[in-house]
Amino acid sequence: MRIAFAEIAQETDSFSPMVAELADFEAYGLYFGDEILQRMQGVGPIGGFLEVAAAERQVELLPLIRAWGSAGGMITVAALDFLVGRLLDGLKQSLPIDGVFLSLHGAAASQQIDDVEGHVLQAVRSVVGNNVPIVVALDHHANITQQMIDCADVLVGHETQPHDPPSTGRKAAKLLFRMLRGEIRPTVAWRKIPLITPQDQFLTSAGPMQQWFDRARELERRNGVLDVSPYPMQPWLDVAEGGWAVIVHTNDDLEAAEALAKEMADLAWQLRDQFWVSERAAPDEAVRRADKAEQGLVILSDTGDSVYGGAPGDNTCLLRALLDHNVRGMALVPMVDSEALEQVLAAGVGAVVTLELGGKVDRAFCRPVAVTAEVAAVSTGFVVDLHDRGVCDLQRTALLKTGSVHIALLGHRSFAINHPILYTHLGIDMTDAKMVVVKTASNFQFFTRWRRELIRVDTPGTTQSDLTAFDWRRIPRPIYPLDRIERWEAPKGGVR
Ligand SMILES: [Zn+2]
Repeated sequence: MRIAFAEIAQETDSFSPMVAELADFEAYGLYFGDEILQRMQGVGPIGGFLEVAAAERQVELLPLIRAWGSAGGMITVAALDFLVGRLLDGLKQSLPIDGVFLSLHGAAASQQIDDVEGHVLQAVRSVVGNNVPIVVALDHHANITQQMIDCADVLVGHETQPHDPPSTGRKAAKLLFRMLRGEIRPTVAWRKIPLITPQDQFLTSAGPMQQWFDRARELERRNGVLDVSPYPMQPWLDVAEGGWAVIVHTNDDLEAAEALAKEMADLAWQLRDQFWVSERAAPDEAVRRADKAEQGLVILSDTGDSVYGGAPGDNTCLLRALLDHNVRGMALVPMVDSEALEQVLAAGVGAVVTLELGGKVDRAFCRPVAVTAEVAAVSTGFVVDLHDRGVCDLQRTALLKTGSVHIALLGHRSFAINHPILYTHLGIDMTDAKMVVVKTASNFQFFTRWRRELIRVDTPGTTQSDLTAFDWRRIPRPIYPLDRIERWEAPKGGVR
């Protein structure tokens, strides 16, 4: 069996002032051909696919492209053309093939194309024809579109938030090989749900999201049900077909798939107000609470500047609150600011610098903060293996110290921005820290060992929880809660 596989994944924040260029994909590792096999073992959905493929007999793997851009602004036309062009060139050279495995995000948009995944899938389908199965691993914050449904045989979303990408790859890959062995004939039903919600209730370990995802797992245990994937779309995507969705695949049983898709869509709608429950604290109040806490690490979630959601990582709102409050315990704050980093590196360790920090990319939601601080540490060329999240190149970083506030300066939006390695590689002992600002609203798992308390801070920014403040232009209306919808029920018949 000859299986072609590729990854083109990025989560787009429509409201981000940034754009995603090829360099953004290169920063996270842009690989072609056999380099993918060497570098992607155990990493991401591709890692999961490779693990399943290794256990199969007589499989010839045809690696095409691996392009992962984390989260950011809209992808430029040139970058998307390049990535899709390389994918299709590789695919054409690989023919004939028996199957295709793709790792896509699902919520990528370019400057011209709202539905990047539909565009990619349509292009792949046009090369391989209708008889070659295409199986896709998606992020469950994907926006599902008609074109994606039409062009793929199977679409499988993450089961958890925080995500476990290799396990999604394994789940999708197993379905691909079962199809190729003729054991199953997947059929699909899906529903859009006219709903968006902020990230406050996005964890699948509690609350309504747990209820919705647990129901999916229950339904998957039924005979003939191959996959039930809920898709609570990430809420900063202003595109033509935007909104939540659910996809159900059964083994050649359209009636059952339709019934389950309707049930899952109706369940999400019934829970809609619970998805909007929030315990966000204002920045000043959050900092006061963190400073008063007796011991251990308080995580201050900078919800408006979620780098994993596509924000710039240079919002100064929480830094300003920490400085104003003159906190007693050690506070750790990350800040992406390449300009300030240059100044700090030029000054060197031990120097005292005065500079304008942050607020340079995100100009709509914050201003730079004037800081006088000692350069406590610098680092260059630090590369760390973050296991299933891949190898992470921190490049150059520096630690600034002003009172109890320790600012880790980054030159780019590294994945390590929400990882303790950012501080430990600059000489910080995490047990000394009283509080840490994280630029994510969901991925706190790397700090679990020290975590005592989590405070979701209501900070402004391109990933803020107040979705009504954005200038929505393309999302279909009416959509809850931007509009009043008195009554809604998922249609009984299919969307196809
Ligand atoms: Zn996600």
